[in-house]
Amino acid sequence: MSLQIYIDGQFFNKEDAKISVFDHTLLYGDGVFEGIRVYDGCIFRLGQHLRRLYASARYIMLDVPLSIDELTAATAETVRRNAIRDGYIRLVVTRGAGTLGLAPWLCPRPSIIIIADSIKLYPQEDYDHGLKLVTVPTMRNRNESLNARVKSCNYLNNILAKIEAHNAGCKEALMLDHNGYVVECTGDNIFVIKDGRIRTPPVYLGALQGITRDCVIEIARDKGIPLTEEPFTRFDVFDADEVFLTGTAAEVIPVVEVDKRPIGDGKPGKITHELIAAFRQRTSQDGYQVYR
Ligand code: PMP
Repeated sequence: MSLQIYIDGQFFNKEDAKISVFDHTLLYGDGVFEGIRVYDGCIFRLGQHLRRLYASARYIMLDVPLSIDELTAATAETVRRNAIRDGYIRLVVTRGAGTLGLAPWLCPRPSIIIIADSIKLYPQEDYDHGLKLVTVPTMRNRNESLNARVKSCNYLNNILAKIEAHNAGCKEALMLDHNGYVVECTGDNIFVIKDGRIRTPPVYLGALQGITRDCVIEIARDKGIPLTEEPFTRFDVFDADEVFLTGTAAEVIPVVEVDKRPIGDGKPGKITHELIAAFRQRTSQDGYQVYR
C-alpha cells in the first residue's frame, strides 16, 4: 500500500499528495515544521514538539488551523494508518496559497501536512567511531534577522553550511556566530565535555532549542553530571575530552575530530557512551502511545 499522507484533514496516497505551487512555503520558505521520532509505537515527546511548532508559528504570525489536541490526534492517526512502529514524522504548517508577492495576509488558508515514514539513520559505524566535523564559513543566522528558535521551512542557512561540510568531506558542519562563538551544527546541537563537566551553547546565541538537547540536559542533571549552557569558542572544542551532537535523527552521536584536530584520544568518550545509553532508554519511556 502506498504511504498515506495527511493534508488538511484528508489522507492521500503519496503520489496524489499535492499542494499549490502558489503556497508561500514553496515560494518563500514561509512556514514551520517539526521532525519527530516514533519508537516502538510511541511518538517521542510529541507534546514538546507540538509546543515548539506552535511557538514557531506564533513568532511568524501563522495561525495553525488545528488545536494542539486535534493536531495530536491527526499525527497519531497518520502513524496508525501507515502502521509505523519505528519511524519518523514530518509535520509541516504552510502559509498557504497566495499571490506571487510576499504578503502573507493574502494567503487565507494555512495547510497542515503530516508524513509518517521510515527513517534513514546515520550508519552504526558513525556511533562506533564518531563523526568528523569542519567549521564552515557560513555563520548561523543572527537572532535579530531570524530567531533560530523558530523552526522555519527556510533552511538555506543550514543547507549552505551542509554543502560546505560535504565539500570538505564531513557529514556535519560546525557553525559559529558573528563573534566566533560556537552555536550548533546544521541539524544537531553540540556539547563539549572537559574534566567531567558538560557545556552546550545557550540558545540565545542562535541555536535551535533541540528536544534531544533538552532531554540530554535532563539526563545529565539526573545523573549528577555538571552541565552548563554557556558561550564557548573553537578553542574549547579542540581542547575538549569529548564532543557529541544531539538531534531527533542522530539521537546522541560522538564527534572524534574537528577541523583535523582529534578530540581527546580520537575515540568516542565514556560520558558520551553513558549518555547514548541513557537517551536510548528514555526513548522507550517518554512518548505518546499510538497503539493503545
Ligand atoms: N539544530 C538544528 C538547526 C536542527 O534543525 C535540529 C533538528 N534537526 C536540531 C538542532 C536538533 O533538534 P531536535 O533535537 O529537536 O531534533
